[in-house]
Amino acid sequence: MEDKQGWTRRNFLKTGAIVTGAGAVGVLGLSKVAFTKSPTYATMIDLTKCDGCKNEPMPKCVEACRRVNEKKFPNPQEQIKDLWPQKTHDDWSRKRDVTSTLTPYNWTTIQKVEVEGEDVFIPRRCMHCENPPCSNLCPFGALDKHGDGSVVINHALCLGGAKCKAVCPWHIPQRQSGVGIYLKLQPMPAGGGVMYKCDFCHDRTKKGLIPACVEACEKRLGDKKPLFFGRRDEMLKMAHDRAREINGFIYGEKENGGTGTFYVSRIPFEKIDMKLKETKPTLTMGKVQNPLRDVNGWAKGFLIGPAVSALGAVGLALYDRKRSAKASASSVKPGIAPSENKQTED
Ligand code: SF4
Ligand code: SF4
Ligand code: SF4
Repeated sequence: MEDKQGWTRRNFLKTGAIVTGAGAVGVLGLSKVAFTKSPTYATMIDLTKCDGCKNEPMPKCVEACRRVNEKKFPNPQEQIKDLWPQKTHDDWSRKRDVTSTLTPYNWTTIQKVEVEGEDVFIPRRCMHCENPPCSNLCPFGALDKHGDGSVVINHALCLGGAKCKAVCPWHIPQRQSGVGIYLKLQPMPAGGGVMYKCDFCHDRTKKGLIPACVEACEKRLGDKKPLFFGRRDEMLKMAHDRAREINGFIYGEKENGGTGTFYVSRIPFEKIDMKLKETKPTLTMGKVQNPLRDVNGWAKGFLIGPAVSALGAVGLALYDRKRSAKASASSVKPGIAPSENKQTED
């Protein structure tokens, strides 16, 4: 499928090859994308074209996202202990089928509002902000903003303290308790699970594939699709062209200091936001400033984040060392001194 403005799997691959200088689409050329400066990607979401897949059992983008990310979903321990001092925990493991909101098992959702007598369907997920407060303020450095534009949580490092959710203007990341490294640090009251959210299909785009949601939507609607993926500058231009064409509005260009997701709508986003606030007070579409925009905020982002990350890393390294030492002690064979046993340990 191909259209005048849209990105297809084929021309994405082609650009990947051009960018890397490989000159041909193939595994060799695409793998070079990971080692050379990759372009920054973004998505454009045309709300005038999304019908919420209302005749399908599940929206195709949601279904595809769940399918490709299934292996990353959490499998918590049976008895999840309450966090301290909150005396509660987050458990979505028995509600894995929920698609009406973002959860650790559902990284994209379709909101529906009626504005001016018109149904508006809004695909929601992480916006992949240009200067993401979630990543800048994660005390353990568990979130990374990659050169391709994606903001990705490292599930192996995340302690689930949910600071990323607190500083995200849309409260996107969702926590599952009873899983992750915090369990090994107990009774130290740090974290409380692992956070999950859309990772912009970082693993797929590294291989030259387009995000699964975009692919699934395109398979269903072809040229009439509302989801577009490509270089950020091209997506932004496409959003402006479309907004001009329909005398409409853009959301995501300036919000939170700029994002990698551009929504275009005929209806002003203020009106959509008002409707959203009636039902879902967190996942709204208001005008938001980046909390790191002022000097103090920047200082916090640049100094406190990495400093605490470093402390966290030292803590984890000490924990790891202690665990290795324990394992080594129990694996020492009779008659062999610990130093002689080191080889086996490695
Ligand atoms: S974005 Fe595409 S796949 Fe998703 S609900 Fe809208 S039309 Fe369906
Ligand atoms: S939308 Fe929220 S979670 Fe996503 S990058 Fe921006 S601040 Fe982070
Ligand atoms: S980009 Fe990938 S992870 Fe994000 S919503 Fe789409 S399919 Fe899910």
